[in-house]
Amino acid sequence: MNHIPVAIIGAGPAGLMAAQVLSNAGVPVHIYDAMPSAGRKFLLAGIGGLNLTHSEPLAPFLTRYYERQDVLAQIITAQPVTEIGAWAKDLGIDTFVGTSGRVFPTNMKAAPLLRAWLQRLRSQGVQFHMRHRWTGWDGQGALQFERRTASDAPVEHITVNAKATVLALGGASWQRLGSDGAWVPWLRAKGVDVADLLPANCGFDVQNRTAASKAGDVRGSATSNAADSAEAASTTGWSSHFASKFAGQPFKTVAIHIEGNEHQPAFHRQGEFVATQTGVEGSLIYAASKLLRERIATHGSASFHLDLLPQWDAAKVLREVSHPRGSRSLSSHLSSRLNLEGIKLSILYELLSKDAMNNPRQLATAIKSLPITVTATRPIDEAISTAGGVRFEAMTEQYMLSKLPGVFCAGEMLDWEAPTGGYLLTAVMATGRVAGEGALAYLAH
Ligand SMILES: Cc1cc2nc3c(=O)[nH]c(=O)nc-3n(C[C@H](O)[C@H](O)[C@H](O)COP(=O)(O)OP(=O)(O)OC[C@H]3O[C@@H](n4cnc5c(N)ncnc54)[C@H](O)[C@@H]3O)c2cc1C
Repeated sequence: MNHIPVAIIGAGPAGLMAAQVLSNAGVPVHIYDAMPSAGRKFLLAGIGGLNLTHSEPLAPFLTRYYERQDVLAQIITAQPVTEIGAWAKDLGIDTFVGTSGRVFPTNMKAAPLLRAWLQRLRSQGVQFHMRHRWTGWDGQGALQFERRTASDAPVEHITVNAKATVLALGGASWQRLGSDGAWVPWLRAKGVDVADLLPANCGFDVQNRTAASKAGDVRGSATSNAADSAEAASTTGWSSHFASKFAGQPFKTVAIHIEGNEHQPAFHRQGEFVATQTGVEGSLIYAASKLLRERIATHGSASFHLDLLPQWDAAKVLREVSHPRGSRSLSSHLSSRLNLEGIKLSILYELLSKDAMNNPRQLATAIKSLPITVTATRPIDEAISTAGGVRFEAMTEQYMLSKLPGVFCAGEMLDWEAPTGGYLLTAVMATGRVAGEGALAYLAH
């Protein structure tokens, strides 16, 4: 059995930040990870431009953590743009603030930053044990790992006795990159309070138009054709015509509105999203995803109103729709008067009845406020991030599990969520720092 002062399990940004804190203090650190290389999700995050944090003032910044803003306010105390910028600079990477206020490395990429970070940690003596999958504790409280040198190699069982352990195992999205949520039952079996893992910043399946018409929704009853009856069996998804033509295409620039209720404020935002084979995803949908997910959990479905022309007011849209069109088709009329084409035009045909399409008032109302019902989140594996996880109430202020002295937790495996915009990595790294400091204090006591 190996005896070591501290084991960090998970070589994502949370685990690496904990390793940095401990190795800066001279503690020999061992990091274990199931994957062949470190920081795979961090690298993926860099593909569309690594959004490290956001430059908005601290007060609105903290509200992005919803119910957990108070608890994260205790550890995100400095302006993240300054703190994370200085951290990256120290690793030789400059950052810049984009027009949206988001903060990126100057070359937008994650790989150079990760390379510099790993190099720094190795130079400080941090040892990486890759292809080590943690499987829980043995009867004596030692850490158990399965090690495989290659995918077809036999499994080797390794036991490690660590004085302190930092768990930084991530959530449960993009499992092929390493974080699979397998740890949830292991911690629950030890009495640790873990909230169910749920998709966050995720896509949704839409209610099928035939199902919607049966429920008396916008399309009404004028939908009976052969394709519809074939689709009637399915309660979710676009018509096969719409899906085959428009899956993968963006709605730009549109706005979505969600009514508030006594528990949740209204949501209204302009932006972009994408039609998928069965529904919707993309930045504007992710921003609304917590609200939509919670409404689905309570009511079985949730609706938002899509404004296809947010830059035009309702009166102007009605005027243009009502303008005499002579012998022109409705499609070419909408295209020439309102510039409604492609996916924006087709979603009207997808969701409105013939009668509504031919009624200028109903059509104009729908262009400004088209109700879309979503019935389910896409599976957690497809989500950008994970909600739920180890509850803060199950940990001390230093992020040590009250039920498991010497075991600390950090990163996305904790019970918080945030929208995209750099808020995820900011909290991941802040919690990694606190868990590292907690482990350091524990080793010293
Ligand atoms: C497509 C995409 C784009 C993103 N873009 C951004 C962005 O631009 N900005 C932003 O702020 N956030 C972004 N994120 C989110 C961000 O990448 C994550 O929040 C962050 O990586 C979580 O860090 P973590 O260290 O907590 O977990 P992870 O990065 O998931 O790391 C957990 C590690 O634990 C290891 N592990 C898990 N279980 C075991 C086990 N049993 N034994 C051994 N090892 C184990 C895994 O292999 C993994 O290496 C993006 C996410 C995705 C999917």
